Amino acid sequence: MAQPARPPYVPADTLTPQRDMSHAHFRPGDQVVILKGVAEGELWGDAMTVVAPSWHTPTDEDGWRLRNPNGGEQTFITAHPRYLVHLSRRCPDCLIHLRALENHLTPKVDSTDTVIDCGWYSTTALNQLVHTADARDGR
Ligand SMILES: [Zn+2]
Repeated sequence: MAQPARPPYVPADTLTPQRDMSHAHFRPGDQVVILKGVAEGELWGDAMTVVAPSWHTPTDEDGWRLRNPNGGEQTFITAHPRYLVHLSRRCPDCLIHLRALENHLTPKVDSTDTVIDCGWYSTTALNQLVHTADARDGR
């Protein structure tokens, strides 16, 4: 019997909204990734460079302006520190979050050869990146 076709199950990212990450954890020039989904059984996301401090209006908290080399019209966006994971150095704090998210997600997502964007983030007209959990607060 063939399995019926069904849309991929896309779990919510419940870990990032709970993450306690200070603004000072990041500095201009840091390489970071914003995790957005799963590809080939591993976490997938956009790699960016931290540019400068910038107010994150959706949360009314200090954020960081980021440069996304593949961002097109959204080359520069502002994100909350808890959305960011360090790429540039071995960082225990970021690694713990990465592993936790990986354990939370990859067993649930059947992604053999395709990139699955879980849709956790949207970008406002003012190029502010917003996690779905922050958008729901209506701020
Ligand atoms: Zn870090």
